[in-house]
Amino acid sequence: MRTRVFIYFILLSFGVSSSVLLSGCRTRKGSQKAAEVESKAQEISALLDSLDLEFEYLQSESEEKVKKEGDFQPSYTRYFRLIHTQLELRPVWDSAWMEGKATLMLSPWFYPQDTLVLDAKGFDIHKIRLGTSETSLEYTYENRKQIHIALGKTYTREDTIKITIEYTAKPNDLKQGGSSAIRSDKGLYFINPDGKNPDRPQQLWTQGETEASSCWFPTIDAPNQKTSQEVWITVPDSFISLSNGRKMKSMNNPDGTRTDYWKQDLPHAPYLFMLAAGKFSHVSDFWRNIPVDYYVEPEYEKYAKMIFGNTPEMIEFFSKKFNFDYPWDKFSQIVVRDFVSGAMENTSAVIHFDALQQDSFSHRDGSYEGIIAHELAHHWFGDLVTAESWAQICMNESFATYSEYLWKEYKYGLSEAEQELENNLSIYLAESRSKMKPLVRHHYHSREEVFDSHSYQKGACLLHYMRSELGDDAFFEGLSQYLKKRKFNTVEMEDLRLVLEEITGRDLKLFFDQWFYSSGHPIVEVNYAWDETENQAEIIVRQVQYAPRIEVYTLNLSAAIYQGDEVKLIPLHISSRDTIFRIPLSVKPDVMVLDHAMVLPGKIEEYREGEEWLFLAKSARRDRQRIRAIEQLMSDVNDEVVFECLLGIAKDKQQWNGVRTSALEALSFYDGDFRKVLLTELKPLLQDTITDVRYMAYALLNQHLEGMDETERLEIFSLSEWVSLFETGLKDSSYNILSEALSGIYTIDTVAGLKVAHSLSHYTNETLGASIIRIYRKASDPALVPFLVRSIRTVEGYSRMMYLGLLGMHIEAGLSVGNAILILNLLKDMAIFSDSPRQRIQAIGVMEIMIEELPAYKPDIFEYLEQRLGKEKEEDVLRRIRSMLEE
Ligand SMILES: [Zn+2]
Repeated sequence: MRTRVFIYFILLSFGVSSSVLLSGCRTRKGSQKAAEVESKAQEISALLDSLDLEFEYLQSESEEKVKKEGDFQPSYTRYFRLIHTQLELRPVWDSAWMEGKATLMLSPWFYPQDTLVLDAKGFDIHKIRLGTSETSLEYTYENRKQIHIALGKTYTREDTIKITIEYTAKPNDLKQGGSSAIRSDKGLYFINPDGKNPDRPQQLWTQGETEASSCWFPTIDAPNQKTSQEVWITVPDSFISLSNGRKMKSMNNPDGTRTDYWKQDLPHAPYLFMLAAGKFSHVSDFWRNIPVDYYVEPEYEKYAKMIFGNTPEMIEFFSKKFNFDYPWDKFSQIVVRDFVSGAMENTSAVIHFDALQQDSFSHRDGSYEGIIAHELAHHWFGDLVTAESWAQICMNESFATYSEYLWKEYKYGLSEAEQELENNLSIYLAESRSKMKPLVRHHYHSREEVFDSHSYQKGACLLHYMRSELGDDAFFEGLSQYLKKRKFNTVEMEDLRLVLEEITGRDLKLFFDQWFYSSGHPIVEVNYAWDETENQAEIIVRQVQYAPRIEVYTLNLSAAIYQGDEVKLIPLHISSRDTIFRIPLSVKPDVMVLDHAMVLPGKIEEYREGEEWLFLAKSARRDRQRIRAIEQLMSDVNDEVVFECLLGIAKDKQQWNGVRTSALEALSFYDGDFRKVLLTELKPLLQDTITDVRYMAYALLNQHLEGMDETERLEIFSLSEWVSLFETGLKDSSYNILSEALSGIYTIDTVAGLKVAHSLSHYTNETLGASIIRIYRKASDPALVPFLVRSIRTVEGYSRMMYLGLLGMHIEAGLSVGNAILILNLLKDMAIFSDSPRQRIQAIGVMEIMIEELPAYKPDIFEYLEQRLGKEKEEDVLRRIRSMLEE
């Protein structure tokens, strides 16, 4: 699974309060600003973590510890072995139900059994039979979560039994759960089920992880089960269906429906079962002789190859990198509406969230190829070898996240890949401010907790460090052997350790204990000195972290010694709190750098003079080091030497674009005397061949423009020159640049800017939309309300929440609401059709503002809400409606 990526920094520019904005992680291409981890984090860790790996759970745990960390969570005991699952499914669209008949083949795992317990959440059960017998079996189903079936006799592990269950699944009756990675857990989702909402397609899709497949078919819903499967799904003939495995045949039915038969012979875990249906365009591709398919809404058919076209190359790359050919029947990817996560690695049938449906402009601004690589890599790490319990989820997620690095390293080079790793480290370090957990995590309150930046981002950094520790050959051979040894089976971290020990001949117990079974991370302070009398360089290292189980980390890092054009790499072994390395040299080095390759999964705090940062910004051998140096120089950007250095980097087309955009970002803070020089020299960058560079150049131009009065502006460029610069931007094929150009024109000339905003208002891109909304708001333009209303109808998820919030603010500020009926109809639709209860609550909240500001609409709104009381099922939404009606 991949968590959603939100590019929502644009929304902050509205000055929208944080209560309107919901959680999400800010990403901005070219931005390298790592989240600063306060030293307090170490103290917090003491409160949060003290998991002792020495199987402390065998002793009685103190109540306090359980409260703090949650109970010990073992793998599920396997009473039965799930062997095969047959499903005959018929969605009931009007009521968002699923009529099903499931036939399960099972065998007692080891001990004889006379009762079978199956997970089945929120079903109406019609009949349960054994084998071909017509006689029903006795069962109890008290909590509507698990069926306890009396088998009538005791079976041994020599026996195989077949159980058939006829049922109706009613996912919307289930109480909602979920996590930060997966917003909901009702397993089966209908979008616009009755087809009455004209703004949205009719779709259904499923989401099994963690244990929600049992919301649509009865199973043993545990990651340590593996079953082959057959699915018959009946859909309207105009719909496609998609499930795991191969489509064996399709049968037309007399009632205008069609039944598709899907089959997967290779076993996989129940949480990887998948189903989707709706009107999609299907674009075919191939890897070797294996079908690779892309399913998107019809209007994105022409972009499908642009979005997914690197997939066959990716399958080839991973097959070779892991020395294990892609093992499944096919590889399909489908983009659905309102998905509860970023994407999900259902075996051979990945579901993506709708942000992947990009046109060429938005694709140029940033693709989602990382997500595609992540889900594909799960087909080895997760689907082929599966974490045997949620405590071991890092065995899936750390590897999938690190595979994003591997793909970038291969396809786009080391600098791109290292930027990915830097982002991963920053995200983990930011999370470590509030929690520090071991990667293998047997204590938690809810299994959804483990889907965090430890299991994903920190895990990726740890694997990268392990690769540097073992060497490429040992690391990749280890991965390959591990896959071969454990294929179609479950895994724990120990499986990997044993394979790597076998290969390398090394004992890795302490290594794994330090990195995977302990919480926290090293924080290394480093000072560099030159001893003139002895002619030796000194690297003075002190470990200052507080990590509960690790007093001192054992680290292997390389140091780089820069002398003119030469760089000497020296391996350093650190195994105490304080270490001084003395390196004899003939002359004083220009700069020394500990952890030259930046592999440390932790922090390095360096103390150096500004000129050393300047040297590194210009000459460090790794671009990631250069960006770190540029960030250090940002606060001194007004210094003439720093200014010259950054300007030189930004202009130099030989440099990697990540370094150039970092320099541009730093220069946007310049407010010294050479503004004219800066903007004149950077003018050619507005037409650079690299989109990111053009975008950052426009962003810089705007930032300076806004910081100047009219006289200053005209000293730099004439009015017609300013206009012409931004007009060039308006012809660009990037929404980011269009958006910057529009803002620029509006700053120069509000009348012209407003006119341009109107001319661009047919686009549905959110970045550009945000600029248009900002201008409409500033100009109090009557087009604002219709534009907001249209945007709210077309965007999804968090953006919709944000726009609803803006609409509320707009009404609250007492501004002209234009067509109030238009707004009211929108809010009514949102309160009915929005699949997310939070969106429905938000829409009702805006109705409340509307009543306050425009009391004439109160009777209408109250009448509407009273009707909703009888139809709304979600308790939170009902509570909101009732509280409003009571006021
Ligand atoms: Zn994942």
